[in-house]
Amino acid sequence: MVRKATSLFGSDESRQLPLEIPRDKHTFSRKNISPNALKVLYRLHEAGFDAYLVGGCIRDHLIGIEPKDFDVVTNATPEEAHALFSNSRLIGRRFKLVHVTYGREIIEVSTFRANTAAQHPAESDQRKSLKDKDTARSSHGIILRDNVYGSIEEDAERRDFTFNALYYNIADFSINDYCGGLADIEKRQIRIIGDARQRYQEDPVRMLRAIRFAAKLNFSIEPETAAPIKEMAHLLDHIPPARLFEEVLKLLGSGNGTETFKLLREYGLFKYLFPDTDALLKSGWQRKDIDPEAFILQGLQNTDERIQGGRSTAPYFLYAILLWPSVALRHEEFEKQGLPELPALHQAATMVLDNQVAATAIPRRFSTPMREIWDLQFRLPKRYGKRAFTLLHHPRFRAAFDFLLIREQSGTDLGGLGNWWNDFQQAPENQQRDLINRADERKAGGEAPKAKRRRPRRRKSSNAKRSQEQ
Ligand code: ATP
Ligand code: MG
Repeated sequence: MVRKATSLFGSDESRQLPLEIPRDKHTFSRKNISPNALKVLYRLHEAGFDAYLVGGCIRDHLIGIEPKDFDVVTNATPEEAHALFSNSRLIGRRFKLVHVTYGREIIEVSTFRANTAAQHPAESDQRKSLKDKDTARSSHGIILRDNVYGSIEEDAERRDFTFNALYYNIADFSINDYCGGLADIEKRQIRIIGDARQRYQEDPVRMLRAIRFAAKLNFSIEPETAAPIKEMAHLLDHIPPARLFEEVLKLLGSGNGTETFKLLREYGLFKYLFPDTDALLKSGWQRKDIDPEAFILQGLQNTDERIQGGRSTAPYFLYAILLWPSVALRHEEFEKQGLPELPALHQAATMVLDNQVAATAIPRRFSTPMREIWDLQFRLPKRYGKRAFTLLHHPRFRAAFDFLLIREQSGTDLGGLGNWWNDFQQAPENQQRDLINRADERKAGGEAPKAKRRRPRRRKSSNAKRSQEQ
């Protein structure tokens, strides 16, 4: 029985759960829902199934944030839902679900699930759908597969935090609160559903999600939800690196990276995402030209500002920032061993990337541009002759230039290099040559550069071009 509430957050006695907030007592309207998500909800409803919106979209709306994506849950099985939409695909192994595609928008439809861990074994034995192939756990108790369907109440209990277990019912437009999420939103707190230790054991990524929501929503983490995190952080070692990579992008690349970074370190989680960077930060290593913590904070702040300003950021840029201090340290070590500047850099980059992929996988389409950004940090100071023009057309020039500005903003003195490149990009061609001449003068220790012989401009073969550049 769902109890009806008289106001959004209800009086204390009406907070007995579950709580139903009728349409006229809340502000979440169909205008707040993506038209495609509405189509999916209506289609399921018309076919006789229960259909709800759940998770982030209700939470964010109630907190006053524009919902980002709309997740649908239903009592239709994935196969039944798939059959209703010609534009849908069945996906997933760990969690089987359906993606309904409308142009670039994907509406995710999942089936009510039960948390098999929370059940008594005898009870779960009776479940018709419970077969070995439906559930699986690792030796660490982490849920690997969870395809046991259940009721909406069971579905609510297997979700992570109370405010993520709010359901919007398309049948009567009410909001249904099964775990006390409305009261927690009012208290601005993140509270895990059930026993925190057990829930982190089942899925350690929930610890990262608690931090992500704390930073994103500016909520506190309720004491019992926060208490086991430091001690259980090491369980992240058992999460596949590819999943952690995706999680890092959400943690640090969603506009609240600076705050998230601080919280991750405070809770001892950062170490499991960026082991080398964490060790380096803890060691207090610094050099005249790099203050690792100031640099990372500056990089995250710039990324946050870009995202909040509606501009895009690339995952490789974020990763290049987070690993640069380690690259700088290793680079110094390889140079001390006698390697020249660029080979030392390549070795350092390889070493740092190899260590990092063991923690969070980095797809090659990201590691290649990361190397290019680092490489260009050593090439951008060398702007003589034709090089400046070549560098300007490098596909990674813009990212490397932004990266260089972050180094300067964080206190690294590069002799006005950022300003020089800024002027160079904006200057007309004749003034660009003046800028290069001035850089040449500086290279020659203030002496006037030798008058350059002007060569006639003509197309050269790539070989001739290369030999001229050397
Ligand atoms: P956002 O999309 O803003 O990042 P969200 O809450 O919608 O936040 P999703 O990752 O889209 O996050 O997940 C959708 C819902 O699925 C969540 O609201 C939560 O109810 C449930 N969920 C996601 N991940 C977990 C998890 N690891 N354990 C339990 N429930 C989860
Ligand atoms: Mg979501």
